[in-house]
Amino acid sequence: MTNLAANLVRSATEHGDRGAVRLDDAVLTYTDLHAGAAAVAGMLVDRGVKPGDRVGLVLPNVPAFPILFYGSLLAGAAVVPMNPLLKAREVEYYLTDSGMSLVFGWDGGGDAVAEAATSVGIDSVVVGAMGPSPEQLTGTPVTDAVERADDDTAVILYTSGTTGQPKGAELTHHNLDTNCRTSAETLIEIGPDDVVMGCLPLFHVFGLTCGLNASVASGACLTLIPRFDAGKALQVIGRDEVTVFEGVPTMYAGMLHHDSAGSADVSSLRTCISGGSAMPVEIMKAFEDAFGCIILEGYGLSETSPVASFNQPGRDRKPGSIGFEVRGCEMKVVDDDGNEVGVDEPGEIAIRGENVMKGYWGRPEATAESIPDGWFRTGDVATKDADGYYTIVDRKKDLIIRGGYNVYPREIEEALYEHPAVAEAAVIGIKHSELGEEVGAAVAFKPGESAEPDDVRAFVKERVAAYKYPRHVWTVDELPKGPTGKILRREVHAPEGTGD
Ligand code: AMP
Repeated sequence: MTNLAANLVRSATEHGDRGAVRLDDAVLTYTDLHAGAAAVAGMLVDRGVKPGDRVGLVLPNVPAFPILFYGSLLAGAAVVPMNPLLKAREVEYYLTDSGMSLVFGWDGGGDAVAEAATSVGIDSVVVGAMGPSPEQLTGTPVTDAVERADDDTAVILYTSGTTGQPKGAELTHHNLDTNCRTSAETLIEIGPDDVVMGCLPLFHVFGLTCGLNASVASGACLTLIPRFDAGKALQVIGRDEVTVFEGVPTMYAGMLHHDSAGSADVSSLRTCISGGSAMPVEIMKAFEDAFGCIILEGYGLSETSPVASFNQPGRDRKPGSIGFEVRGCEMKVVDDDGNEVGVDEPGEIAIRGENVMKGYWGRPEATAESIPDGWFRTGDVATKDADGYYTIVDRKKDLIIRGGYNVYPREIEEALYEHPAVAEAAVIGIKHSELGEEVGAAVAFKPGESAEPDDVRAFVKERVAAYKYPRHVWTVDELPKGPTGKILRREVHAPEGTGD
């Protein structure tokens, strides 16, 4: 039987009494989660949802998310997860673009979902944080997953990719099932005794595959935090004896610099996983020293389910690198013509394998452009060393060209993170009449620390080539971040009047 939800059916059989999902004091066992999902599947069938139909989820990390997610899959629907902070007209875009049949919202989320559904003319169901009420659950429960073909779509994840409007990456049952098992079995090595931190949003691919799907496939318990907060995360690690932490670099930085970092009980932590954006080596080292747990960095995208490469356990780790290809995935570094470049030469990462999406929903041209020859073009520039380890240089589109010289922001940010007062940094290009672009840096300081922008500038000047150091440095309280906590360089702007 092929269906990502078969993992839930199996874990309910093998680990029925164990905790599957937790939110503070509320725990759902695998039996509860399966029963809840089966009831949701029954309700969907009752409301006319058929295999292959698209069902939307607009919820934060509350137990209702996994119940509705697996319920929709059991019924054979393709799930379209969305950020619960979206406004009605944004939700409308996704409903229309994916041709959705029904959308779920939650009762803490305002009217956006109901408004959008009414305006598009589709069915909507608003549930509580713990799932639908008994009155909402009409129909006969569907306990066994509806059979789907390997390349039937399980999830459509909207991503902006490199340009343009959000496009729906179609991830198949095979894509997601193999990637979550590869993560659970060979990378994070999760088992039924593990407690996995669920602070990455489940509507994003990292939290969905490595958090929810990997936990369910291996019978582990996922403890949820509806919205990341460093103090809360530290408290939950101690309270639930979390063994596996998964996060983006800003989460690690947030916990490291939090007031309660010194007193928190983090002795249960066994593995920390970082992905989603480059982990600054300084933060990795400081976190490992303070928390006594190593961080393994991986790399991937929504389009690759997501995990494509990883600093794998049991192999030498190279901090700053993204490791090497994971099981079932091939990677290479290519030039603009698709030819592989030499050792240590920069080029674009191309990926092929069982984790690569079927395509962008309803966009054959965008699909053909991103997978021109069977290899998915990531838009990420990297090098591969003689040992086979990849190191991300930066995103292609974030390259700054200053007077004809290439400056990759990540390299400058790494130098900024070495400054003892800097907590967060983002480097961007600023328009310049003669040079084309000038290098600028926005920095946020650690609590209780500060420095003069000129000193920060001088600090970086000593560490990088003269054409690269930021001529403009300004301070901010906090940098703009996306829903996962990734720093959004494109939303960083220089203060009025900066430049020539
Ligand atoms: P998303 O589709 O939202 O998961 O974003 C994917 C993008 O995140 C990739 O194209 C990379 O630019 C970036 N990314 C993911 N993991 C890493 C990493 N370990 N280092 C640097 N960038 C990363």
